[in-house]
Amino acid sequence: MARARYVNGLAAVAVEIEVEAQRDGLALQLEGGTQLWPWDEIARADDRVGPVVLKRKPESGARLTLDAETAADVRAAAPHLFRLRSQRFGLVIALMAFAAVMTVTTVYGAARLAEPIARNAPPDFVARVQMIAEAQLSYLVSPCPSGPRDAEGLAALFDLTDRIGEAAGVSPARYDIHVVEADFSNAFATPGGRIIVTDNLIDLLDTPDELAGVIAHEMGHVAEDHVMVSLIKNMGIGVFIDIVLGGQGAGLTLASFNVVSLRHDRGFESAADRFAVRALDQAGLDPGGLAAFFRRVAEMSGAGLGLPELLSTHPDPSRRAEALAGAARPGRPAAMTAQDWSAVKSMCGLEDPAPPPPAPFDGPLSPGLGAPPKP
Ligand SMILES: [Zn+2]
Repeated sequence: MARARYVNGLAAVAVEIEVEAQRDGLALQLEGGTQLWPWDEIARADDRVGPVVLKRKPESGARLTLDAETAADVRAAAPHLFRLRSQRFGLVIALMAFAAVMTVTTVYGAARLAEPIARNAPPDFVARVQMIAEAQLSYLVSPCPSGPRDAEGLAALFDLTDRIGEAAGVSPARYDIHVVEADFSNAFATPGGRIIVTDNLIDLLDTPDELAGVIAHEMGHVAEDHVMVSLIKNMGIGVFIDIVLGGQGAGLTLASFNVVSLRHDRGFESAADRFAVRALDQAGLDPGGLAAFFRRVAEMSGAGLGLPELLSTHPDPSRRAEALAGAARPGRPAAMTAQDWSAVKSMCGLEDPAPPPPAPFDGPLSPGLGAPPKP
């Protein structure tokens, strides 16, 4: 038997009584006999700071104040009376949130969560991601050694990129393009819209149309915000936010924050290919260059000439070449003059293997002034 102070709610006088926690409720030894308060009719009537005070529902004004020992007995029999309301509320919220995440994940796929986060990221958030990406990049690529035709090559590269951007309706403020020295062949875009082409890739490209195709494809990733979305998808939302906010995980997981080997999913790759075809076509260029490039990459990898970086970030080149096959517009002018192409092929300390002959004569193959229009 434990003791408690009882107020019947009619008289403002407390009496000491004996109480006993039973299976069905709390038994109170009152003057008139034993009264059972069933557990499901008991509620707390205290502020949860001082002593435990119980009341019975419906409210009659009766109160039972427990000492510590009695409270412990009651707690053992009816733990629900001692659970903090905020804990229960928190548990409900956590369960609801978990259920919502599971529903979203099941119905829409986890990937869908990355999109709204990436697309609604505030500018300073993007700037921070870009800063981290650039810091990572500095370990993986180097600035080009300056060469005699760099200015000429850069001017040709900027001109081609701007023609593609303008045709696609992408503001020049959203992108820029750099050639860097690296020991791998690849092109990629950073979260801030910087398109990066490695010198080894420039070396690998056969024609200016292939270069135009590569630039237009990367422009697609920039224009459609693929880079931020893919970064979040690759790292997981929690890790991503932790890194961006400079949390504890930053040092450990920074290595996975790597735009150089960032893999976009197949849907984004196809979308960037389609974007490239549209942009090149609207710029009056032949979109066939991208297909030609993928065809050649497929042949090279088939022949055992490894292009690991390029193939890991631009997978399935033969299927993509096939998908792009119908997009070629043969007969369109080349994306660059032979002079400009030679300057680009000489960038970053490269040696143009086939320097062009003097400026070509605008010969009978191209329709001159006054030529009859094609049917
Ligand atoms: Zn891509």
